[in-house]
Amino acid sequence: MKAVLDHVGIAVKDLAAALAFYRDALGLEVETPEEVASQRVRAHFLPVGDAKLELLEATAPDSPIARYTDKRGPGLHHITLRVDDIHAALAQLSARGARLIDEQPRPGAEHSLVAFIHPASAHGVLVELKQSAPVSSQSPAPGPDLAVRRYALGDLELVSVSDGLIRLDGGAMFGTVPKVMWETKAPPDARNRITLAMRPLIVRGARTMLIDAGLGGKDSGKFHDIYGVDRTRSLDATMAEAGVTPDEIDIVLASHLHFDHAGGFTYRDAAGRIRPTFPRAQYIVRRGEWEDATHTHERNRASYLADNYLPLAEAGVLQMVDEDATIMPGVKVQRTGGHCRHHQIVLIESKGKTAAFVADLMPTTAHLPDAWIMGFDLYPMDTLAAKKQFVKDAIERETLVFFEHDPAVAAGYIRETDGKRAVVNL
Ligand SMILES: [Zn+2]
Ligand SMILES: [Zn+2]
Repeated sequence: MKAVLDHVGIAVKDLAAALAFYRDALGLEVETPEEVASQRVRAHFLPVGDAKLELLEATAPDSPIARYTDKRGPGLHHITLRVDDIHAALAQLSARGARLIDEQPRPGAEHSLVAFIHPASAHGVLVELKQSAPVSSQSPAPGPDLAVRRYALGDLELVSVSDGLIRLDGGAMFGTVPKVMWETKAPPDARNRITLAMRPLIVRGARTMLIDAGLGGKDSGKFHDIYGVDRTRSLDATMAEAGVTPDEIDIVLASHLHFDHAGGFTYRDAAGRIRPTFPRAQYIVRRGEWEDATHTHERNRASYLADNYLPLAEAGVLQMVDEDATIMPGVKVQRTGGHCRHHQIVLIESKGKTAAFVADLMPTTAHLPDAWIMGFDLYPMDTLAAKKQFVKDAIERETLVFFEHDPAVAAGYIRETDGKRAVVNL
C-alpha cells in the first residue's frame, strides 16, 4: 500500500489563541473552515508543503474533540495518511491483525472516504486513512454496476443484491425536470428510456430479511420489450453469489407493491401455478398499500400486477402492518407516501450506525435535489416533504443510503455543500 501524509490533526481548546500561534506567529495560511456536522467539529486547514495541519475545534460540548481536550488538554489528535484504495488498505491491515475503529470507510471532508485505525495498533497514535472518492452526481453517468456488495452495520450485515435492469421513460422518471437537465445524468436510449437497476437488500441479523424482490421472472415477450428488461443479474443469480438460499429468508418486506419491487415475490412453477418464491418467509406488506393494490384506478393500474401479491394471501404467508413499526430488531418501516399513498422506506440501525432503504422516495442518486421528483408519483408534494426531512436526517446521522434503482451506485452517504447535494459512493 502506498500512503502519503495528508494532514496532522491538532485538537484545540481556544481557537483564537491557536490561530495567534499557527497563523500569526508561524505565518501559515488558513483555508476556509469546514464544518463536520456529525462530529460537531469545525476543521481549519493550514497548508504546509504537500500536507496540511488541521486545527480541530469542537462546536458542541458533546463533540468528540471537546471530550478529548477536556480529558487530555489540547494537542496532537491524529495523523492522516492518504491511500489510493481504502478498501484494500483496510483489508490488508485487518489481515495483519490491526485493530480497526472503522471496519468500513465512512464519509470524510471534501467527499473523501475515511477510516480510523485504533491507537492500540499504531503505537499510541490515532491514524486515519483517507481516499479521495469519486462523487457520483458530479461525474457523468457511469455504466451499470450490479456487483453484490456487503456492508457491516453494527451487528447487522447488509447485502445488496440485484434483479437486473429495466428501462423506464426518462421524462416520467424526472417529472417536471427538463430533459436538457437530466439527460447528462441518465442518458436516454433511442426510445427515450433510461436504464434503472432493481436492487433488493438482504438484512442479516436476528433473522434474515429481504427487502423488495425486483421484477421476478413471470413475464416475458411484450412486457420485456416495453421495459427493456435485462435479468442477466437476476435475484436468483445474485443471491446464489451472495451465498443466501431462498429458504434462508425468514421475512420478505415490501416498500410497496409496484411490479418492479414485488414481481419477485412469486414465481410460476412447472405446472403453471403461481407460488411464493421464498418458501419459509412471511411477507410483510403495509395494509394501506395492500388495499390500494387490490383496488386500483386508472392512474395506478399499470403498476400493480395481482399475480405478484394475491397468491401470498392465498398461500397464507401474508402479514399486514398498519403503521410504522419495528419489523425485526434494528429494522423499522416508515411511511413516506408521495410515490403512492402508502409508500414506505426502511430504516436500519445497529450500535449507533444507521442505514436506509429509500425505495422510490429517491430511486437514484440523480433524484437527490428536492425538485427532482418522478412524474409517476401520485402525490409529489408529499414526496417533496418526506424527501426534505429524510435528507436532513440522513446527513446529520451519517446514514448509509441504499438507492434501489440507481444503475451504478448501490449505496452511499449524502453530503451537502452550499445547498448542492452529492453522494459519496461506498
Ligand atoms: Zn414504485
Ligand atoms: Zn420503483
